[in-house]
Amino acid sequence: MTVKQLIGMPGPIVNNIDCSHSLFKIYATIKAKRAKCPVCEKHSNKIHDRYTRTISDLPVFQNKTTIFLKTRKFKCQNPQCDRKVFSERTPYILRYSRRTRRVSRILDSLSIELTGKMGSTLSEQLLISVSKSTIARMAHEQQLPQIAQPKVLGVDDFAYRKGISYGTVLVDMETSRPIDILPSREGKELKKWLSKYPGVKIVTRDRASSYSSAIDEVCPTYRMPWTGISKVWTQKSKSSSRIKAMNF
Ligand SMILES: [Zn+2]
Repeated sequence: MTVKQLIGMPGPIVNNIDCSHSLFKIYATIKAKRAKCPVCEKHSNKIHDRYTRTISDLPVFQNKTTIFLKTRKFKCQNPQCDRKVFSERTPYILRYSRRTRRVSRILDSLSIELTGKMGSTLSEQLLISVSKSTIARMAHEQQLPQIAQPKVLGVDDFAYRKGISYGTVLVDMETSRPIDILPSREGKELKKWLSKYPGVKIVTRDRASSYSSAIDEVCPTYRMPWTGISKVWTQKSKSSSRIKAMNF
């Protein structure tokens, strides 16, 4: 088996490999002679510039792995095209990313299943370390599943930054799963949300009066018992949730 087969990325050419100080370094270039403009989709072989991308990949035998990928910028040769210069791409690495797709997939899973802090700790043990804020950002970028109309809704606030900015978490109390977040803890946001989901029969909430007035306005017949919702959903919910990555 060749090193290239072992790396498993047919696109780039591996020019050199080096391993020192627990770091496995792969020096590579993209082998195609031309590249496709992302705007007009015409091919170009006119090189404008070169630069090196530093990409984190899966570890090799307990060594962190970094790919130094020589990347070319091409001039678009289509006079009708708005894009004058573009960088070549490879399907194994997302545009602007510092990680290969396979590393991103693992980190996406960590961001969904764990809090930012725990995800960051585990990523360090896996030798693909990222900060807790990166884990939180990746969780934010995930697509949330479609919201199913809840009958019993839990409403509680949480701190993006304690004492400075707050959001609202909405939980389907029958499944104990968080289903949505609102960017603030203003009653008007909750009122708007409740108007979109009129099938809610019971709302449990914290003591914030802004929630109370919003619920009263949309449907004065909702019951509003206080149940300590934060504890309920953080203890029970194992669901995928961008909210959990916010370090509750
Ligand atoms: Zn173009």
